[in-house]
Amino acid sequence: MCNKKEYCGLFGVFNVEKPSDIIFLGLYSLQHRGQESAGIAISDGTTIYSEKGMGHVADVFTKSVFEKMQGNKGIGHVRYSTAGESLPANAQPIIAHTNKGHLALVHNGNLVNSVELRHDLERTGSIFATTTDSETILHLLARSKADRIEEAIIETLHYVKGAYCFLILTNDKLFAIRDGYGFRPLSLGKLHNSYILASETCAFDILDAKYIRDIEPGEILTVSNEGMQSIMPFAPTQKAYCIFELIYFARPDSYVFGRNVNIARIAMGKILARESSVKADIVVPVPDSGLYAALGFAEESKIPFQFGLTRNHYIGRTFIQPKQSVRSMGVKVKLNPVKNIIQGKKIILIDDSIVRGTTSKKIVTMLYEAGAKEVHMKLSSPPMIGPCYYGIDTPFESELIAANLSIPEIRQFIGCDSIQYLSLQGLLDSVNDTNEFCTACFTHNYPIKHHMQQFQQLRLFEKIDPSHDHS
Ligand code: SF4
Repeated sequence: MCNKKEYCGLFGVFNVEKPSDIIFLGLYSLQHRGQESAGIAISDGTTIYSEKGMGHVADVFTKSVFEKMQGNKGIGHVRYSTAGESLPANAQPIIAHTNKGHLALVHNGNLVNSVELRHDLERTGSIFATTTDSETILHLLARSKADRIEEAIIETLHYVKGAYCFLILTNDKLFAIRDGYGFRPLSLGKLHNSYILASETCAFDILDAKYIRDIEPGEILTVSNEGMQSIMPFAPTQKAYCIFELIYFARPDSYVFGRNVNIARIAMGKILARESSVKADIVVPVPDSGLYAALGFAEESKIPFQFGLTRNHYIGRTFIQPKQSVRSMGVKVKLNPVKNIIQGKKIILIDDSIVRGTTSKKIVTMLYEAGAKEVHMKLSSPPMIGPCYYGIDTPFESELIAANLSIPEIRQFIGCDSIQYLSLQGLLDSVNDTNEFCTACFTHNYPIKHHMQQFQQLRLFEKIDPSHDHS
């Protein structure tokens, strides 16, 4: 990825006129995957130009910036962080001049052995310009004794463990790489005669590009003037697609891991309704995270769906606010109950998950203050009991409410009349699982061994405030 605690969006294009315009639109569609920084690197065949900065895509790139960036291929990145410190140096693409040529790299995911790798590299003389694990990849590529970049990439991937999707741009090639578990999504599309790559297919739609297929777990795809070449240099491993992409992260109009995100979310709501016995007057989503699950719940339960909460769309998700002061007031700024809908009603309130519980508590309190008779909280995922080590910023276990309190205690903390989580089997059924998903934050079944101590060290090292909450 970017660095440990982030969650990012990647976009790449090869052989187009004005690649910066196309990448800009692609990144615009992927803005939900990262709102802290954005960057673009363009190659004209001899030089790689880059522009990156803090903030939203539309703030970072201006017309004059694009005029400077001439070429016919490029990559782009949006970065997410709840970090206490937002470092401009950590914005991607990361650019380097190496003995394999001029390279630009973007990353989504998290390398679980990056601390070890970085220490080893630093011990033997490497100087790092960023605090991201992504830069480790460039150092490994540069140090490889292989003559060709293709061989250096394979050699480098032998060293790294964890979740990753990479796009690497050289002056004549674009590489798309996905780890063998397939934690993060990466799709291939076609725009006229050009190939494009994106973390989510919603980035193809904005360009009227055609989705071709997903980059396979373990695949290295090379796009060059000679066309496309795909290799699978490593032995196949179990699949571990991040189920949270379908629960919350991916955009509902995207198609990830072979599933329509909105259809999966509606199915979660329907199964949640089948697992529920509560009688109520209306189903209310927490916008936008509970929207599709609430539609499914209402359809299955035949309880009317109502927009009982209005969201101010002109601020970011509380989940991604980097400063504690903003986060603590985030709910009031972001959501407001619609009193005439809420008053005197027994409400089923639907959200995707509960992380620390503080936001859910505030929403429930708001609903009672607006006159709700009963509030029954329902979540379209099981209790989150473990942190993510694969590129999603979740708090440490000590801060996860479901890792520390029983369900009756959570209900009491949040202050609602009842609380119900979707069962793990219900979640797996809603995504038609064939044993290919990571569910570790609900089960503790982590697909790749991680070192808790290193994880903590990384967060301290990067001065990360691990606290965040979106429900
Ligand atoms: S631990 Fe949870 S959030 Fe992380 S990859 Fe697995 S399912 Fe996704």
